[in-house]
Amino acid sequence: MPAPDPSNDPDAAYDVVVVGGGPAGLQAALTLGRMHRRTLLLDSGEYRNAPAEHMHNFVTRDGTPPAEFRAAARVELAGYATVTVREAAATAVVPDGAGFRVEVGAAPYAGSAGGPPALTARALVLATGMRDTLPAVPGLEPLFGTVAAVCPYCHGHELSGKHVAVLGNGPHVARVAFLLERIASRRTVLADGADLEPGVRAQLDAAGVAVRPEPVKELRRSATGATVSFAEGPDEEVGGIFVAAEFAQRAPFAERLGLRMLASGAVEVDAMGRTSVPGVFAAGDMAHTAALPMPMASVLTAAASGLVAAAAADGDLLARDHPA
Ligand SMILES: Cc1cc2nc3c(=O)[nH]c(=O)nc-3n(C[C@H](O)[C@H](O)[C@H](O)COP(=O)(O)OP(=O)(O)OC[C@H]3O[C@@H](n4cnc5c(N)ncnc54)[C@H](O)[C@@H]3O)c2cc1C
Repeated sequence: MPAPDPSNDPDAAYDVVVVGGGPAGLQAALTLGRMHRRTLLLDSGEYRNAPAEHMHNFVTRDGTPPAEFRAAARVELAGYATVTVREAAATAVVPDGAGFRVEVGAAPYAGSAGGPPALTARALVLATGMRDTLPAVPGLEPLFGTVAAVCPYCHGHELSGKHVAVLGNGPHVARVAFLLERIASRRTVLADGADLEPGVRAQLDAAGVAVRPEPVKELRRSATGATVSFAEGPDEEVGGIFVAAEFAQRAPFAERLGLRMLASGAVEVDAMGRTSVPGVFAAGDMAHTAALPMPMASVLTAAASGLVAAAAADGDLLARDHPA
């Protein structure tokens, strides 16, 4: 059977499809709803901060559980008649005439609203986020989001006055240890069997940061944080652990649409969230301007960039509808 032609279905034709229901996509949909744009938000339910119990460093929302933040955003979106939210994954995004054809997979959660399997959008806001890969240290994954974290700005303060570990052996470990110098009572770098660069080691020594060079055998949750066991030597008891995760695009659309990419693995956007392909805007962790070395990776900046990208998409449609 041929695929349905969404352009024949008025229920499947949108001004903008927002792909992603994290802070960037939710804010983009709110901005578009406020401008009465026919907007569809697709959300596959895979959020970067899903392992975290609380989110921090967002004024008025400091300490809010991420799921509570998203639920509050959904309640606000429900007040905008032109915005539809579907709990389903976009499976394909293809240029089609002056816009895009978006194919949608089955709804992944029980009870979520269905809808046509193919849609048209005059413009796209991609907000599909990044996927983290943790270092392969036994016991790390179950601690991620509670005892183990990536960002001292998001999860450092909660470790005030505690012994904090920094797991890793690249040059970044010194920066993370220094970010924690006014917060932690003691800092230990877990080099996990690798040699630190001599310059990094000298910086850590000068700053009074301890180094455990032995391979880490296991991390276990403890009453006060985590117990770190090594291949040899005594265990360390720590309140929390910072790690460097590798990150990559969660969705394949940047590559499939041929968007210009940056060395960080993010999509290059201009200050308005425009990508290198007309009609495609990107926001949140998946994109940043060339002026930055990597995405800011915070809820507030993701939401802010969602607003900007949505306003740019709205302006783009306006310019198309009212040519000079
Ligand atoms: C453990 C952890 C804790 C964190 N804590 C904090 C904190 O305390 N404070 C803070 O400011 N930041 C924190 N962050 C960073 C924060 O989570 C991110 O910066 C933020 O979530 C980025 O928002 P986003 O909308 O770009 O992406 P995400 O929140 O990752 O959302 C991506 C969205 O895209 C959707 N998606 C992906 N592919 C598809 C598809 N094919 N179809 C449909 N939908 C799709 C996903 O389902 C999801 O809805 C933390 C990160 C981690 C890993």
